Amino acid sequence: MGRAAVIHKAAADLRVPPNLSDYDATCGGFSWSEMAAQLPSPPGGGCNIAWSAVDRHADGPLKDRPALRFLGSGDPAGPIPVTEFSYAELADRAGRFTRVLRDLGIGKGDRLFVFADRIPELYIAVLGALRNGTVVTPLFSAFGPEPLATRLGLGSAQVLVTTEALYHRRVAAVRDRVPTLGHVLLVGDGEERTDVPGTLDLRSLLDAAEPAAPTPTTADDPALLHFTSGTTGTPKGALHVHGAVVTHYATGTYALDLHPDDIFWCTADPGWVTGTSYGIIAPLLHGVTSVVDEAEFEADRWYRILQDQQVSVWYTAPTAIRMLMRAGPEVAQRHRFPNLRFIASVGEPLAPDAVWWGTDVLGLPIHDNWWQTETGGIMIANTPAFDIKPGSMGRPLPGVEAHIVRRDEDGGVHEVTDADSEGELALRAGWPSMFRGYLNQDERYRKCFAGDLYLTGDLAKRDADGYFWFVGRADDVIKSAGHLIGPFEVESALAEHPAVLEAAVIGVPDEILGEKVKAFVVLERGIEPDDALRRKLIGHARVRLGAAVAPKELEFVDSLPHTRSGKTLRRLLKARELGLAEGDTSTLESPEVTR
Ligand code: ATP
Ligand code: MG
Repeated sequence: MGRAAVIHKAAADLRVPPNLSDYDATCGGFSWSEMAAQLPSPPGGGCNIAWSAVDRHADGPLKDRPALRFLGSGDPAGPIPVTEFSYAELADRAGRFTRVLRDLGIGKGDRLFVFADRIPELYIAVLGALRNGTVVTPLFSAFGPEPLATRLGLGSAQVLVTTEALYHRRVAAVRDRVPTLGHVLLVGDGEERTDVPGTLDLRSLLDAAEPAAPTPTTADDPALLHFTSGTTGTPKGALHVHGAVVTHYATGTYALDLHPDDIFWCTADPGWVTGTSYGIIAPLLHGVTSVVDEAEFEADRWYRILQDQQVSVWYTAPTAIRMLMRAGPEVAQRHRFPNLRFIASVGEPLAPDAVWWGTDVLGLPIHDNWWQTETGGIMIANTPAFDIKPGSMGRPLPGVEAHIVRRDEDGGVHEVTDADSEGELALRAGWPSMFRGYLNQDERYRKCFAGDLYLTGDLAKRDADGYFWFVGRADDVIKSAGHLIGPFEVESALAEHPAVLEAAVIGVPDEILGEKVKAFVVLERGIEPDDALRRKLIGHARVRLGAAVAPKELEFVDSLPHTRSGKTLRRLLKARELGLAEGDTSTLESPEVTR
């Protein structure tokens, strides 16, 4: 409470990316084709994500620079084991994987899935397949057999790269349900080559293969199929093309300020689009060293990684920030972060208290940014070059045109131009990483567009300075006594209270109000729930928001249901509250999985 509404940056703090001395002038004159021209093309022309990410650096000045730095689990008390691949080594391994696929008869447009922990072979397979023009889908390794089989089936998987352990535990039982699946490539659990009937040992195939040249691809060729998080319903498969690389490159510059001397850590798993666009592609395009932690979240370990790996740019998510907050400042205080110069967050609204937590504990505020699986890359951001408004998602990046719109009764869409008016967030279609379809759902894809606008399904408002503020998902908005209430506003107000760690808000049917606001609250460590605290929190929200918007009911819970990518599953809270079927829970986080 009582913190400034804007975090002003001193000119000396800004490390302005090249050509961004005046954002507005640049934005006005921004051209995606000029941006594309800055990124060299493969020798024969065309466009290929993996060629731009690794091959391009393999003979150049960055060839010996570490491209990927893997941090193994190791002994918790001892040093973290490190395995590095230089750009030249990564290009070599990816080239070998391209050869392996080609020898299996897998080519352009064929479908490969990767189902593995964050091990080197996952990254090698993704890059090698992209070089081969093969369409890649990384799946989160904690998926059980059912969500795995559904996605493999939906995507008509032809090749699966997985580990020996995951094969036995999850894949073997469902393999017969995916008739298209011709090849399973296994990464062994130990040093020995694997010998599992019906599978091939990937490491020995890679060792024996000669690197192959990339298959020519164009900007319009399919590259990645990514499933959404399933927050609002059954996950959708969003298809992206190789041309998306231009967005990955531009956003690496404008939103993350990546430079070749950076050590970058994106904490997302490649099973989610953030872990692919920013955990694999964007950092490599910029020639940085990208840290990959193979282990699961543990607060002290994360601080240790930031410190010991000398991370300079960190991209994480509100769910992780909340977990670090919950671990307490004393854990952070055991470490120092002199190299850290920029922190960004995505995936869920970032409440102002979390932005300030960054300043207090890590010495830097956190820059929220907004995008979706469908957009393929960051669209709206608090950038390094601008003042932060805590609680805001920031401003549209160069080349991104964002609008607030309302749908008319007759289905038409019109723009809302008044500052601070709520409506659906829409983007003018045409940026390079825009999705090109939902797998097997053409009608649903078509419905996302109105004229040249892509309708995001999120509600937001734009203030007079051009900053965008997240209101809620259209599906989650509460209609109470004629008011439209965005859950995020209520959740942020509750999270401001020192007793509250996290809150989620839903609407429950009410005879008089239509819907009434109900809050579920997780308390900070060591704070006991009781009626007095419940009344205090409702009172606090009333003062902040007014009685019409503040929760009428408040329930204390030990934890909130999250998707595996860290999003609050309000639809599940609502279904449970109303005693309805829970719907698709394939991406629900299990208690032991934390990111
Ligand atoms: P599904 O579409 O299957 O319901 P999902 O929308 O959660 O799942 P993703 O594409 O992974 O799947 O997530 C994108 C969504 O996450 C956005 O549409 C938005 O609702 C939310 N989001 C992302 N970043 C932010 C942010 N900075 N602030 C608020 N919400 C965000
Ligand atoms: Mg979505």
